[in-house]
Amino acid sequence: MCPLVFHPIYSQLDLPERHRFPIQKYQGIYDALVNQHGISESHFHTPDAIDVERVKRVFDPGYIGDLVAGKLDPKAMRRIGFPWSMQLIRRTLTAVGGTVLTAELALEHGTALNLTGGYHHAFANFGSGFCMVNDLYLAALRMLESEHIDRVLIFDCDVHQGDGTAKLASNNPQVFTVSIHGEKNFPYRKQVSDMDFNLAKGTTDAEYLDTVSSALQLAMSISQADAVIYDGGVDVHENDDLGHLEISTQGVLERDRLVFEACQRQGIPVAAVIGGGYQRDIPALVDVHLQLFRAAGVF
Ligand SMILES: [Zn+2]
Repeated sequence: MCPLVFHPIYSQLDLPERHRFPIQKYQGIYDALVNQHGISESHFHTPDAIDVERVKRVFDPGYIGDLVAGKLDPKAMRRIGFPWSMQLIRRTLTAVGGTVLTAELALEHGTALNLTGGYHHAFANFGSGFCMVNDLYLAALRMLESEHIDRVLIFDCDVHQGDGTAKLASNNPQVFTVSIHGEKNFPYRKQVSDMDFNLAKGTTDAEYLDTVSSALQLAMSISQADAVIYDGGVDVHENDDLGHLEISTQGVLERDRLVFEACQRQGIPVAAVIGGGYQRDIPALVDVHLQLFRAAGVF
């Protein structure tokens, strides 16, 4: 079975009451995998926080320094959407360390999954939409350090466009970005990925799965990628509070299967992160996120 990456800190963040971020979902996914699906705790790898100096080498060191020190101005923090705390920084750096570890494990085992990740609205010099440090881009760079990997495809199916990732990778010919997202949704000012698919409000399973399937085929052949990073955001789901698509739970499962099967067919490693998902009913939300693990054959 493929390795899984989790740290309890993923769900350890005190937020104001009624904050819309479902911080408990990460621990909820872990608990469901262990208690309902009988996954042994030994399948989980525990990440360390990523080294801040390493992050500064890739992104704007002034921004990263101010973020870590709590010196960003209130406007920059409002754009991120979380109140600053040391806990927030520790959690962020550990979550990002988790995606980088997932990339390493994917190279070794073929498939690996992080129980958080997908901070695709983080740019080099600012954070946005609950994202501070772009883990997807860092994970792609980590894969490219391997002598067997020359091109990485970041395949982003979160309902929101992967704008930060698109911008970060725009000058890097070794990182190919694909985003399949809702057209009339945050971020309203979109960036240009290598391939963008804008879906109309109310899109349902059949059209969605057709789009994912052709996007995968096209992206694999154009990018000639030898590794994939997959953002399996579930804010495409019909019950999501922030998405405007109408994708069923079965549709999410089939989407995730398309991605894993395509990677398997090509024999290329895939590191997956759970991405966004915003329902206030945590058990219901966890159930949709679990489809990624089902698709990967974890249970
Ligand atoms: Zn999202």
